[in-house]
Amino acid sequence: MSNEFLDRHIGPSQADVDTMLSSIGCASVEEVVAKTVPKSILFGNRMEVDEGLSERDTLALATKLAGQNQLFTNFIGQGYYGTLMPAVIQRNILENPGWYTAYTPYQAEISQGRLEMLLTFQQMIIDLTGMDISNASLLDEPTAAAEAMMMAKRANRKNKSNRFLVDSNTHPQTVTILQTRAKPLGIELVIEDIQGNDFNDYFAVLMQSPGTNGEVRDLSNDIAKAKDSGLLTIVACDILALTLIKTPSEMGADIAIGNSQRFGVPMGFGGPHAAFLATHDEFKRMVPGRIIGVSRDALGNSAMRMSLQTREQHIRRDKATSNICTAQVLLAVLAAAYGIYHGAKGLRVIASRVHAKASSLANSLVNAGFELVSDQFFDTITINTNEAKKIFTKAQKNRINLRLLSGTQLTIAIDETTTDEELSALLAVFSVDALLESESSLAKSMLRTSNYLTHSVFSNYHCETEMMRYLKRLENKDIALNHSMIALGSCTMKLNAAVQMYPISLPGFSSMHPYAPEDQSQGYQQLFKDLEHALAEVTGYDTVSLQPNAGSQGEFAGLLAIHSYHESRGDFDRNVCLIPSSAHGTNPASAVMAGMKVVIVKCDESGNIDIDDLKVKAEKHADKLSAIMVTYPSTHGVFEVEIKQVCDIIHDHGGQVYLDGANLNAMVGITRMGEFGADVSHINLHKTFAIPHGGGGPGMGPIGVKSHLAPFLPGDPLIKDSNAVSAAMYGSASILPISWSYIKLLGKHGMQYSTEIAIISANYITNELKDYFPILYRGDQGFVAHECIIDIRPLKEISGISEEDIAKRLMDYGFHSPTMSFPVAGTLMIEPTESESLHEMNRFIKAMVNIHNEIQKVISGEWDKDNNPLKNAPHTALEMAGEWSYPYSREDALYPVKSLKVSKYFPPVKRIDNVYGDRNLFCSCITTKDFT
Ligand SMILES: *Cc1c(COP(=O)(O)O)cnc(C)c1O
Repeated sequence: MSNEFLDRHIGPSQADVDTMLSSIGCASVEEVVAKTVPKSILFGNRMEVDEGLSERDTLALATKLAGQNQLFTNFIGQGYYGTLMPAVIQRNILENPGWYTAYTPYQAEISQGRLEMLLTFQQMIIDLTGMDISNASLLDEPTAAAEAMMMAKRANRKNKSNRFLVDSNTHPQTVTILQTRAKPLGIELVIEDIQGNDFNDYFAVLMQSPGTNGEVRDLSNDIAKAKDSGLLTIVACDILALTLIKTPSEMGADIAIGNSQRFGVPMGFGGPHAAFLATHDEFKRMVPGRIIGVSRDALGNSAMRMSLQTREQHIRRDKATSNICTAQVLLAVLAAAYGIYHGAKGLRVIASRVHAKASSLANSLVNAGFELVSDQFFDTITINTNEAKKIFTKAQKNRINLRLLSGTQLTIAIDETTTDEELSALLAVFSVDALLESESSLAKSMLRTSNYLTHSVFSNYHCETEMMRYLKRLENKDIALNHSMIALGSCTMKLNAAVQMYPISLPGFSSMHPYAPEDQSQGYQQLFKDLEHALAEVTGYDTVSLQPNAGSQGEFAGLLAIHSYHESRGDFDRNVCLIPSSAHGTNPASAVMAGMKVVIVKCDESGNIDIDDLKVKAEKHADKLSAIMVTYPSTHGVFEVEIKQVCDIIHDHGGQVYLDGANLNAMVGITRMGEFGADVSHINLHKTFAIPHGGGGPGMGPIGVKSHLAPFLPGDPLIKDSNAVSAAMYGSASILPISWSYIKLLGKHGMQYSTEIAIISANYITNELKDYFPILYRGDQGFVAHECIIDIRPLKEISGISEEDIAKRLMDYGFHSPTMSFPVAGTLMIEPTESESLHEMNRFIKAMVNIHNEIQKVISGEWDKDNNPLKNAPHTALEMAGEWSYPYSREDALYPVKSLKVSKYFPPVKRIDNVYGDRNLFCSCITTKDFT
């Protein structure tokens, strides 16, 4: 096997592999696999996938496909707009591993840079919508609308209605996703014109302004009327328009939702982009998704963290308010950077320019005898014309995309990128020669008079030098993969190769509008076909849907498919979902969203599903059994021997097997879930297939299914009742070239070898640490899969040092902690992946062994049990100077191992007080005074 990229992707050299093999006492790679994976599912590599290509050939192929997408001049709008990403942002964030390879900021002390950026994102949304609090991103605008609907249901307990009203002037994709989400929860969706509506018998209403036809309306009266009838009110808004027009808050809305795409984030054929949900203080504890808040560190300094982490679905499980886990952090960071770089004045200039162009276009068309649906618009106009279809087709012949709203209505959206030449070409399609200047026709009462973006962060960085340095300062505060390994179990933080990232910046991929006619996206279509085929081969499934834009969304889509399948067979009562107690929290949260009843199955003391309990529960619920959700290899990091039996038991009782594919990195090229009995899985492309974590998103969670479930996969979001789960047919399409490249580069045997090395590396670390920390679970022959759990509880009992103390102390050594307390409280779960070199793994092992020795000093009494380097970790650069009041040396605190003298990362803050942050929820920018 010759594969030049493989050597770049795999961390350990051949000699290193031999070293690891002898450490774990195996003679060959094959022996390790045979001792790790149960024989009954050891199928060998049956993937029909090509062998790997070189970097150069892969990039050439990607470039060719991007070139096969045709970029017409775009006036479609409908929630996606052309935008100009400032080069300083593209180069320093989007194309910078310091930003895109970071993990979700659970370890706040080493995440202050991106947390600051996310706080700025929240502030920006708060200012533009006029609300009090915003979350730090949701997956897309329609799912944000769905989250708002569910939040309103919870918030409006007094109101017993099950009906949700949606204004008919709402984007069609929003309506479709609301349908998908409403149905399993028994919510009746009513789509009507809200003007003159009696608002009788609804718990909440969603209105959109500007509407899908572009009309800007003052919703104040309708909102007041709806509130009088006991409804909560949700407004879908446009953040660029909000720099000029009245805010949802000024119109009286309870919740505002929208998308930040047009703040410098390319359309990308549908995503990824950061959506948001903002609301008033009274609902702050009900907001779905993550909220960044300000707390203080052990020295009393301001420090940021994710607020109310206990609301996270992985802790709340079936009581979770939302199943969202991976969100859109990198995209929120990009949008915030755009806001920072332009500031209030710059954004106003951009918005005014867009509005002026739209006004000129409208005036020119009216002058030529065309009729506008409304003269109240921001950037999008709709005209009534019997020639709609004809003009639409004629425009296409001239490489111009318009939106056909109906047989007699054409919609035209202007954006930041629209040039005068493009407007002239457009007018020519209407046989109009001259572009006439025009004043805005927006009613005075609709104009915005309130200030926004007044915090100093929005005015300090308008020159490129300052912006570049600000971004660098923030980047330096964080640990990402460009600093050290991030051994997060279940998260598979592997190499995100530079060559895999290249294609996302190709305009052919990044600038496509998701609703452009299909014949313009041939390059994408080919890439999707390749990727679907490869993922089907990897998993042993028959069909793959690329729509779900995170694992959580894949889970939801998969459960809906199962539900529809049962119904298609006349089985209307199957609503019980069995979930082992070790499951990831998104599993029960998704099951509840899909309208299922969660029944927990026990695990035995070695971490495996308790087969007897499974049998009892399957039997007990046989009439109602819909599915089991099981992770494989298990969240405990072992290949359970009985997996086939688990599948059989479920099938025998009429249920379907949902296999959570988060741990696929342990299986590629070795076994296939579709062949050992599972019916459907999500595949986290941001774990196994190299999409970077982006600091907490984006991700992609496509699902694979056996053929009997294929008819029930999510459909086109522009078609009503299609079970779509995302605003765009292919979810966050523009990051799919990353996974596509990964597969092209590694190929059939490169992917298999990656899996093998991931398993060997995990077993190597297990073996090297086992004398210091007990290994919680192992397979029947003593081997772990691609990750291992070390148990901190016994040490804690005698030393008082907790898993959290170790996590924080690792920061002093320059490492991000492994996964903490998942799936078992009081443990750390380590996953090295195949991309970490032996050298780096040894550095990590050395840090852990050293920490173990430090704990011994606490046990022996040499170090005070409360005042020691572990309890006081992390130590900051500030503590380098000044008086030293700790009873241990500065050297011990800051340079516990020699290598740190060559290269040392200093956390910017000391340990953060979580309780204080939750009690004093403060989720907007700190004033400059506090910072300096
Ligand atoms: C990561 C993960 C998920 C959720 O995936 P997201 O993309 O974050 O929504 C589900 N299950 C397991 C076991 C995971 O590790």
